[in-house]
Amino acid sequence: DEVAERIAAGEVIERPVSVIKELVENALDAQARAIRIEVRGGGLRLMRVSDDGIGIPEDELERACLRHSTSKLSTIEDLERLGTLGFRGEALASIVTIAEMTLESRASETGDTSEERPAQFVTLRGGEVVERGRKARVPGTTVTVRDLFFNVPARLKFIRGARTENGHILHYIRRYALGYPGVRFTLVLDEHIALQTSGSGELKTALTEIYSLPLNEMLYEVGRGAGEQYRIHGYIGNRVLAQNNRQYVTLFVNGRWVQSRALYDAVEKGYRGLLAKGKHPLLVLFIEVAPNEVDVNVHPAKTEVRLLREREVLDLLTESVQAVLERSPV
Ligand code: ADP
Ligand code: MG
Repeated sequence: DEVAERIAAGEVIERPVSVIKELVENALDAQARAIRIEVRGGGLRLMRVSDDGIGIPEDELERACLRHSTSKLSTIEDLERLGTLGFRGEALASIVTIAEMTLESRASETGDTSEERPAQFVTLRGGEVVERGRKARVPGTTVTVRDLFFNVPARLKFIRGARTENGHILHYIRRYALGYPGVRFTLVLDEHIALQTSGSGELKTALTEIYSLPLNEMLYEVGRGAGEQYRIHGYIGNRVLAQNNRQYVTLFVNGRWVQSRALYDAVEKGYRGLLAKGKHPLLVLFIEVAPNEVDVNVHPAKTEVRLLREREVLDLLTESVQAVLERSPV
């Protein structure tokens, strides 16, 4: 029933940044090269994510908003070698039950130019279609979400001010812009550009674009294990770049941002005595394992991950960080 649906939606969508996460992941799954994120009023008034990805065919547009509608998974074996960030088909269905959402898309055809052509859009509010129409646009997808939690007053009460929500969104986009340096990210918070990357494909360039810190000379490259069972690569900052929280610690496992106490501890252990008490490094590391050695099916809204051979990965992380720092001057 309706109440149960809203509760289920609230599990996936905890706060505005949860919507941003789902929409950005969809854009990445659609192979976007440029993603623009616009936020007003901390996300409660408006969130809009536009991409230049493959788009959605007209006859699939409305179906994409229904529960368990995913174009990404057809067999249980697919789940094992999952190459996409989404697979449950829950995100859009959840958003439409607790907000107003307009989905507008044009599938890109081969040899497509970026000319504007008529495309379809649909608007849903509280699970009901309120408008359908056509609009000229370039290939790609734009999702606009308004009035988040309009029918979930209990959830609304727990949302802090716009500043707090903007902060969560900024940190989330920073992470994904680091994770996908080949994608051009633009984040606009209340009409101000809060972050912009060039999509150069170079991780070091992305780092300097995202953190306005004097990064040269203070970042060390980590590259471990091409051809080995696990691969770890990325950059780690020295102790001069130490921070008071873990907002600058970014770990990706197979293209997915993860927050894991065990992984964090393993990385920081590699710093040995280099970090003062309560300080955390600035770094971005990519961990790659065989797809069947990682279980991402933990919780739709969480950034947790289960690794089959966790101990080995943790040790390799510690060793990689330690080895780099031992060779470096500061
Ligand atoms: P999931 O990502 O788990 O498949 P979602 O509810 O997030 O489920 O999206 C449902 C479907 O809508 C996707 O499987 C995809 O086919 C389509 N879709 C959503 N967003 C986009 C996008 N930005 N570009 C292309 N297709 C999209
Ligand atoms: Mg998705």
